[in-house]
Amino acid sequence: MAKVHNFSAGPSILPREVLEKAASAVLDFDNLKLSLLEISHRSKNFEAVMERARSLVKELMQLPDGYSVLFLQGGASLQFVMVAQNLLRERGKAAYIDTGTWASNAIKEAKIFGQVEVVASSKADNYRYIPKGYTIPADADYFHCTSNNTIYGTQIKEFPTSPIPMVCDMSSDIFSRRIDFSKFSLIYAGAQKNMGPAGTTLVVVKDEILGKTGRAIPAMMDYRTHISKDSMYNTPPVFAVYVSMLTMEWLVSNGGLEWIENINRQKAELMYAEIDRNPLFYGTVAPEDRSWMNACFLLKDPALEPEFDKMWKEAGISGLRGHRSVGGYRASMYNALPLESVQVLVEVMKEFERIKG
Ligand code: PMP
Repeated sequence: MAKVHNFSAGPSILPREVLEKAASAVLDFDNLKLSLLEISHRSKNFEAVMERARSLVKELMQLPDGYSVLFLQGGASLQFVMVAQNLLRERGKAAYIDTGTWASNAIKEAKIFGQVEVVASSKADNYRYIPKGYTIPADADYFHCTSNNTIYGTQIKEFPTSPIPMVCDMSSDIFSRRIDFSKFSLIYAGAQKNMGPAGTTLVVVKDEILGKTGRAIPAMMDYRTHISKDSMYNTPPVFAVYVSMLTMEWLVSNGGLEWIENINRQKAELMYAEIDRNPLFYGTVAPEDRSWMNACFLLKDPALEPEFDKMWKEAGISGLRGHRSVGGYRASMYNALPLESVQVLVEVMKEFERIKG
């Protein structure tokens, strides 16, 4: 089978060895002669998986005491709701920065629970940069940001120092670089980019910020329910948690965040250097805010798209088309994408220039 270079924006590429281990556990898990999918989530074998997954998150994030790690369902989109429902006080206010489609969806949901102050937005400029120099109001209940804007290809390089609890949607760049995770009071991320398959969402929350809203919260929506039951209040997404555990093991055993940051930097530098150099293409976002995960670019002459598309597809590249709402191209270079795949794409772009030039 010819190699496919998988630039999918999510669900996206996972390490080959993780897929192999996952496939084997579907047939026979822990030598039980039973599938991972057909044993109780209360069995000691699965409880060990959940415990290991939690401890890998803590190891990768180097968190101090006082945080809980949860594996929930409902995607990052449900976190748009749960964050506000659990943190926004009755008659309270929350602060958000609007840096893209997902941030704006989070804002929309928060408005159901209280007042939302959008402290900065780059919407008027088609989200092509990350706003900076804004003030976070000290009287809001929390400040929400999105570390990486998957659709527009921008990424926060330096997080603000927030006078109030800082919440971050890290769905599309979780575990891709070293950051000071202890700056955040709540972090959430859908697993399906850097962490594992679709079906679970990582939530890391500082316990002390919970229980202050004054509203009744249904059990399934209340972080405290899930904390008190170690993410087993109801049946957890066993397969997604298991594959996330394997992916984190892969990351840790290879050298952790320092190792992957180094590779991700190389991939991004190679990709953006070609976008800038090649006269047929241009990048769509402010250079200082360029995402290491999702490089968005366009052909200067859109009429060339069918020919370019044919060429990268023939080279075994998959998933390069931009999000349906913005068009153009998006090279998603998540953790498991090898440098070699970016090299192949860059060669295709050079070859295209040669043919057209
Ligand atoms: N936030 C970000 C940054 C995302 O990229 C996505 C999905 N691509 C979401 C939220 C929504 O995630 P989900 O589909 O898991 O609800």
